[in-house]
Amino acid sequence: MEPQNYRELLNKAILQSDIVKIFDYLLTIGVEEGASDIHIEPFENYCRIRIRIDGVLLELVQYPKSFHDSIISKFKIESGQMRPDEKRLPQDARVSAITQTNKEIDLRANTLPTVRWEKLVMRIVDKSKEIPPLKDLGLEGSNGRIIQKNLQYPNGIILNTWPTGSGKTTTLYSCLGDINKPEVNITTFEDPVENKMMGLNQAQVRSDIGFTFLSGLRSVLRQDPDIIMVGEIRDKETLEMAMESAMTGHLVFSTIHTNSAVETITRVLNMGAQSFMLAGTFNLVIAQRLGRKICPHCATKISVKDDPKYLYAKKTFQNFDKEILKKEILLRGITQAEWSDFFTNGYITQGTGKDPKTWEVCPVCKGIGYKGRVGLYEMMDYTDNIRMMLLDGKSAFEIGKYALANGMIDLERDGLFKAIQGKLDLNEIYRFVKIQEI
Ligand SMILES: [Zn+2]
Repeated sequence: MEPQNYRELLNKAILQSDIVKIFDYLLTIGVEEGASDIHIEPFENYCRIRIRIDGVLLELVQYPKSFHDSIISKFKIESGQMRPDEKRLPQDARVSAITQTNKEIDLRANTLPTVRWEKLVMRIVDKSKEIPPLKDLGLEGSNGRIIQKNLQYPNGIILNTWPTGSGKTTTLYSCLGDINKPEVNITTFEDPVENKMMGLNQAQVRSDIGFTFLSGLRSVLRQDPDIIMVGEIRDKETLEMAMESAMTGHLVFSTIHTNSAVETITRVLNMGAQSFMLAGTFNLVIAQRLGRKICPHCATKISVKDDPKYLYAKKTFQNFDKEILKKEILLRGITQAEWSDFFTNGYITQGTGKDPKTWEVCPVCKGIGYKGRVGLYEMMDYTDNIRMMLLDGKSAFEIGKYALANGMIDLERDGLFKAIQGKLDLNEIYRFVKIQEI
């Protein structure tokens, strides 16, 4: 059945106040249309359901507030983990479900008492989703080379920094998938285990009974591991344990909450790590964001000559070392025409949302101008020079400046190369990258 039909079925179920069916169709629409979250929210005069697709919320449907309470209660009862009579406190639940299209999903749900009624948000984890191979993630140019090189190292730490929903789980799994061979023992500690992968020993941590990332890391050393993935480094103890594992010959993957690869240095030092330990164990720090990809069907070139964002972007390239820039352009396969269209003529690609032939709403992106997402990656490769700078006590600011001058691809640079190739527009890039000055 087409996704559109499920929307019609959902509307029908709402008219009939059939709450079981409302949930069935809602989850199916969510999964089939690739939504990450479903919001069920009450307002003064009506209620609405929105879904987040490609990082942006879209309204799916509105319904009368008269049966909002039954919708929330039904979910609480079905979850078996929420108290239906408790309406004053936020509550959490994790449930498994199967969609009408026979896909197994996990839901992480939360209710929040608002000034009106409770709002319910469900995060969808689609377990049937395939993890793309590393080469399909958009790790282009020198970034692709850096990651390949680092995956070959027998020990050290590879960190991924991210804000929620930026695809870090996918990147980590793709990396593990790339080195997942019968000769190595890979053990992971996750919360939750989002995808099951053949050949990995995946453990779900349970902090309620004391099975934490830290205790997992401590015990795994007795499991004869080669490669370890620990879901997140949140405290000094886990960080130190990860560093110790790296020092004793293991390759350790993890994630940490920071905004950029360079900022991770400050964060790790503030957590209490010694800079010599950082210099001795860190191999690579990746920062990433997911940008909305330009819809290929309605994409067109537009002149942005006077757009402040364009002028800023141009300046970014003018600050780039000429030789390194030339190499990067070649590595990414950017053509002469693409380069001069952007740099000399001031053209970039943008989705119009209109079908180029009929000039009606674009059937591919439904008029939004974007379809799917593409990763923007920033990689800080811990080269010998950077290790030396850390040992010399140089600041994160100085190290970042040095790395950029020596060709590090940060989020902005990666995004701009992708804009030149017609994958991203400038609005998406500067949603993530602060414009300092023009
Ligand atoms: Zn389109």
